[in-house]
Amino acid sequence: MRIDLRSDTVTRPTPAMREAMFAAPVGDDVFGEDPSVKELEEYAAGLFNTEAALFCPSGTMTNQLAIKVHTQPGDEVICDHAAHIYIHEGGGIAFHSGCSVRLLPGNRGRFTAQDVVDNINTIDVHHPVTRLVSIENTCNKGGGSIWDFDEIIRIRRACTDNGLKMHLDGARIFNALVATGDEPAHFGRAFDSISVCLSKGLGAPVGSLLLGGHDFIRQARRLRRMMGGGMRQAGYLAAAGTFALQNNISRLAQDHVRAKSLGAAVQELPFVDELLPIETNIVLFRLNDALPAATFIKKLSEKDMLVVPFGKQYIRMVTHLDINDDHLEEACSILQKMEV
Ligand SMILES: *Cc1c(COP(=O)(O)O)cnc(C)c1O
Repeated sequence: MRIDLRSDTVTRPTPAMREAMFAAPVGDDVFGEDPSVKELEEYAAGLFNTEAALFCPSGTMTNQLAIKVHTQPGDEVICDHAAHIYIHEGGGIAFHSGCSVRLLPGNRGRFTAQDVVDNINTIDVHHPVTRLVSIENTCNKGGGSIWDFDEIIRIRRACTDNGLKMHLDGARIFNALVATGDEPAHFGRAFDSISVCLSKGLGAPVGSLLLGGHDFIRQARRLRRMMGGGMRQAGYLAAAGTFALQNNISRLAQDHVRAKSLGAAVQELPFVDELLPIETNIVLFRLNDALPAATFIKKLSEKDMLVVPFGKQYIRMVTHLDINDDHLEEACSILQKMEV
């Protein structure tokens, strides 16, 4: 039995999702004629109560489109030093938007409104113009950490007071919403733009959504075309996204329970020095130096259990739609029996 804990992106469409895809009515979405893409965009905008939405091939594209629309070359973007937009998107902020980045040393990806205020440049010819604050919820590098919504509102006020835009990298926003019970519409109101991944824990094969106001989405749609992200009969993929939003949100809670069980097993291992708090579906831990991460990963892969390295001596495991209780039990048993 293969236990693939590398990422929640490895899920494959279920038979029911494939049926929804197969049955989807489609048209040319670059002409604005794909009913299934329109249905997904309207459904998602309705969930978050934003004016509009845009279906894109990836979360990297939705994040980078948002940054590009919100900024001008030479502006500065504030984000955490571990932010996906900064470390995992190929230098896209520099390439697409020509912006500098102000990195904040947050607490597992989270910073405060005061941190933002302290890092806004004064208006002076020497400094880049601070233009955008981006937060990531849940934060991947923080081990799936969740933001406190009250802090988000304080940051919103700081942004409004200082004329800054605010973007949410919500690749795993539904993991946060399921864990806290917060309302998506509250997030829709707090941010100028939101990126949501359909291809992670929600189980769709491809796709992300960008959410925001009419004018913002109109500009993003034009830039999507410019970057080559205009897709024709994309309704087959969009139908998987709509299915995911309608069927796979509340089940994320099961992934969170399984991640906690996995964490409990990891906690007992003599060669683990640190386990980050488990808030959602990500288990992140540090091996002691006597056990090189590459050796650990190889030993697990020999048992058909797959995990990824995540920085020096850190290992990440992610639970998802294709990990059930049998996989979980087997994973814990492999870890417990491991000889080093
Ligand atoms: C996965 C992810 C993205 C988007 O990644 P794609 O692979 O481009 O869809 C963005 N932000 C975070 C935090 C992610 O985990």
